[in-house]
Amino acid sequence: MPSQREPYLTAKLQGFGTTIFAEMSALAVSTGSINLGQGFPDTDGPREVLDAAIAAINGGLNQYPPGPGMPVLRQAIAAHQQRFYGLTYDPDREVLVTVGATEALAGALLGMLDTGDEVVVFDPMFDSYAPCIALAGAVPKPVLLRPPEYAFDPDELRAAITAKTKLILVNTPHNPTGRVFTMEEMQCIADLAIEHDLVVVTDEVYEHLVFDGAQHIAMASLPGMRERTLSISSGGKTFNTTGWKVGWLCGPAPLVQAARTAKQFLTYVAGGPFQPAIALGLGLPDSFFHGIATDLQAKRDRLLPGLVQAGFTVYPTSGTYFVTVDIRPLQPDGDGMAFCRALPGHCRVVAIPNEVLYANKAAGRHLVRFAFCKRLDVLDQAVARLRTLG
Ligand code: PMP
Ligand code: GLN
Repeated sequence: MPSQREPYLTAKLQGFGTTIFAEMSALAVSTGSINLGQGFPDTDGPREVLDAAIAAINGGLNQYPPGPGMPVLRQAIAAHQQRFYGLTYDPDREVLVTVGATEALAGALLGMLDTGDEVVVFDPMFDSYAPCIALAGAVPKPVLLRPPEYAFDPDELRAAITAKTKLILVNTPHNPTGRVFTMEEMQCIADLAIEHDLVVVTDEVYEHLVFDGAQHIAMASLPGMRERTLSISSGGKTFNTTGWKVGWLCGPAPLVQAARTAKQFLTYVAGGPFQPAIALGLGLPDSFFHGIATDLQAKRDRLLPGLVQAGFTVYPTSGTYFVTVDIRPLQPDGDGMAFCRALPGHCRVVAIPNEVLYANKAAGRHLVRFAFCKRLDVLDQAVARLRTLG
């Protein structure tokens, strides 16, 4: 992040600089490194999903799709919520297709927040949360997730809620920690949301990527929560199509309407031919959804022991693409930013310094995130390189 003031940049975005993912992916390319930084898979997703997009392009679906998204995709999203969580949504009024989960988050936050509103958010957080809250003129109220478990303290959550709190932003499975919130934690958040009459926005992009038999819990499925929850997800992680940027949100019509009003003026629409393809993917059999979690779990289990052997303190991860480590056994000053900037020079591997994802910078300074959504041979190669560090 630049310390200097950027002359033409709005005051709301001063300090946000260039995203760490752009910086580190560029570093991976310029140094020929293995990129375990930005989370994207290095293999294609299901053939039939890719073929459906090609067929849509060849079939002439190349103009603006409808504002809320193509009916076939909205119906498939509603069917997916019913199938996996027992939640019923009206595809016409309660589902909105967006440009990735990123735009769903932006639409929800810009559509619902007024200047001075407070957003309770768990720290660390995905990199777009803080700038979107800032663009809305609102204020983040971070609640720290502490390693090794990355659980939150319910008293700290309660204390973060004030008369100005408008919504709670929840991400589970959680990036960057890999934490999958338990039923007890979800219930704690739900109880407070109901007690204080708050909206909950949930980022569930890794909903199908959970390990060791853990279960992703949809906040909207808890009693009393459907009517106050906006659930966000995306096809990118589930179908290995992060570059397609097809996302969505579901919720009660007034919440969806607020997000839709903002979304109209961000991009209006996108991803026409990809929408029927993601619709097809959402209808794939259970074996597909089990398969992607099992496959990713095997990749996690390949990388983690390698990181231990390389000398890091490695924290457990139950979902997502990511594992976090404490670098201090290898770099006693604990400067994760310096460590990540130097790592490609030392051994041609790229990782993400977690500090940039923290509001409480001191808490994340010595932590670094590695992505394991890569082929096993690539992970092996990365481990071999990292083992030269010690
Ligand atoms: N939220 C989280 C927690 C993420 O990890 C990502 C992935 N980059 C996103 C949102 C954005 O998803 P998309 O690529 O669909 O915009
Ligand atoms: N979700 C991915 C990550 O956290 C990619 C993020 C991005 O490039 N915006 O690494």
